[in-house]
Amino acid sequence: MNKTKIFLHICCKAGKRSCFCGKPSKLNSMKFFHLLPAACLLLIFQNIVAQNNPVPTERKCGTMEHLEWLKQQDPGLEARMEKTEADMQAWIKNHPPVTHAVVTIPVVVHVVWNTGSGNIPDQYIQQQIDVLNKDFRRQNSDWTNTPAVFQPLVADCEVEFCLASKDQNGNPTNGIIRVQTSVSSFSHSANEEIKYTALGGSDAWNRDKYLNLWIGPLGGGLLGWATFPNVPAAGDGVVISSSSLPGPPYGGAFDLGRTAVHEIGHWLTLYHIDGDANCGDDQVSDTPTQDMLHSGCPTAPLHTNVCSGSANGEMFMNYLDYVDDACMVMFSSGQKARMVACLNNWRSSLLTSAATNCAAVSTLDAGILSIVSPNWVVCNTTFTPVVKLNNYGINTLSSCTINYRIDANPNQTFNWTGSLTTGQSANITLPSMITTAGTHTFTSFTSSPNSSTDGTPGNDQSSVTFIVSNTGLNLPVVEGIENPVFPPAGWTLNNPDGLTTWSRTTLAKKTGSASMFMDNFDYTAKGQDELISPVLNITAVTNPSLTFQVAYQLYTDPSASPNFSDTLRVEISTDCGITWTNLYNKYSTQLTTVTPTFSTVEFVPDASQWRLETISLTPYSSAAKALIKFRHLSNYENNLYVDDINITGVVGINDTDMDTGIRIYPNPASGKFWVSIPSGQASGIEVYNVFGEKVYSEKTLTPIVIGAKSLILNLDLPNGIYFLRVSAPSEQEKTGIETIHAKIVIQ
Ligand SMILES: [Zn+2]
Repeated sequence: MNKTKIFLHICCKAGKRSCFCGKPSKLNSMKFFHLLPAACLLLIFQNIVAQNNPVPTERKCGTMEHLEWLKQQDPGLEARMEKTEADMQAWIKNHPPVTHAVVTIPVVVHVVWNTGSGNIPDQYIQQQIDVLNKDFRRQNSDWTNTPAVFQPLVADCEVEFCLASKDQNGNPTNGIIRVQTSVSSFSHSANEEIKYTALGGSDAWNRDKYLNLWIGPLGGGLLGWATFPNVPAAGDGVVISSSSLPGPPYGGAFDLGRTAVHEIGHWLTLYHIDGDANCGDDQVSDTPTQDMLHSGCPTAPLHTNVCSGSANGEMFMNYLDYVDDACMVMFSSGQKARMVACLNNWRSSLLTSAATNCAAVSTLDAGILSIVSPNWVVCNTTFTPVVKLNNYGINTLSSCTINYRIDANPNQTFNWTGSLTTGQSANITLPSMITTAGTHTFTSFTSSPNSSTDGTPGNDQSSVTFIVSNTGLNLPVVEGIENPVFPPAGWTLNNPDGLTTWSRTTLAKKTGSASMFMDNFDYTAKGQDELISPVLNITAVTNPSLTFQVAYQLYTDPSASPNFSDTLRVEISTDCGITWTNLYNKYSTQLTTVTPTFSTVEFVPDASQWRLETISLTPYSSAAKALIKFRHLSNYENNLYVDDINITGVVGINDTDMDTGIRIYPNPASGKFWVSIPSGQASGIEVYNVFGEKVYSEKTLTPIVIGAKSLILNLDLPNGIYFLRVSAPSEQEKTGIETIHAKIVIQ
């Protein structure tokens, strides 16, 4: 972790962004090559590949080393994998082998290239997909090289692969992303830079829809590595060396595309056939126990009677051994059972993904990509919808009908005209709508693109649930993060990068049993994360304030690097989230709550390591619909915790002040207020407007005393909220003067 943190800071701090942190350019074509005849192209390509991608002389798979590294970073991974293994064995036992429908897995290929030779042409990528489809379907002609004793075990795994035809937004793609990088060779340990755009690689697409296959220059003689299903989504997938693809330019013993077959086997939960130990267990019953992984191209039978005592020898020709590409030719039925179990349980969303993500692209295909407004909260019963119209089709979209409705009400229609090319979208403002307070659904869909028929109706519609909150929640709002459901009821999370965000934890708390925190220790991006309050009515209390407990420690020594810190902000909006005003902004040693202020160990505070923060909301006392948000800006440092959020004030403006017994009534009033003072004396009354300006004061109170203990205050002021300051003898202490503040409303 040390290395990770230091690396991220070195490379991603302002002023040092030139290394990997800028967004690498994505190239869709190789203009240089397009200028040359094909034969000439091949010759040039062969030469530069040979120069820049030295062909490994032995197979080296980084999967198990990478897994060990992941386990060090993620203490829960081992237990999750053990549970998966037990569940998998049980599933296989309860699901005897049958012929399945063939599962097709959409693949997105990330070509991350440093020098031109790494920018592998589409044709070789398609050849790689073809190899996968042959090998996983037992359609490779060389499977018959399997020794006769093992041939009955050779399985048609009933898994195929397709290059994605639709990207994550549903727009047309060829399934190949090209990213030029300044990284000359990638590693399977450390940060796995090839998988992250910010580190010079290419961010994964949604692993629930695609197999991410990264192809790039790998260091240390690596041919590839893969992840098992229990790893975090952002790093899930398969990495292979650009030298391992099938095709004439690549050469060597690993040039038939079987590195990808081997690694995808891992990705579908297969282990090396020797169980990565001398006579180890690969959790597959029909593969012989092996003493080792083999190299080159052995002759069968090999290593008879070494581990299993079988004269049949070892199954070195299995894709999960280490032999040359030309000599690995088969998966066994037991391995197939694991892969089928994996696809039906831990990667089950891929069973049906191809129907959408490898579907043919329509020429005419419009749709509502998302609802921009309303989103999560609307502060008025009248609102103006905004939808994002997208052209998913090949043809330019010049017109369509946008249908929209609230709940199950009849559709309204809006005729849009304009020009959107393939993959382009535009925000379309629709006519205003009126609804009622409460929870509603807004739905919008397209029809009649270019006055014709939509080729893919399945992506036409989007809908959103939203809350119309035309009255704010009365204070106090007390949130101790005690309920296991997070975010708390009425609160909203905004997590733009979809990665680490505010979450509940029971590992640390100021009071109760839980708090909320930002896991900066493991956050791999510079994200902004927000927790937003319900709509609040601040007008009904006196002296409104926000208090919360915070706990924070840095990772980096602030005396060495004063600018390395995560940041906590608190902001308020009085216009339903359109604009925000900063109330609180702390970072570095302003924010830390412990000594020492930094630690390279993950920060988990005890109850003594918190600080109470208090923010006055008095300037916003007139806000009947306020939103407050906790906004966090991550910068790879250490964990930040928040607990005991209280948004409150002196509640009930008619209530008797506890210390002095002073009452003000009626309230609100048209300007005439009665002030009841138990002692019958007041040494001064002052009235302030919401800007803090004194608009009334009275020091000689005797003439207006009515009866023994009350006085009348006649205020000739515009309607609005005012603050009353009354000084009177203390009832409790019987000595001295006490001053109370009360809010009054003139209407
Ligand atoms: Zn391997």
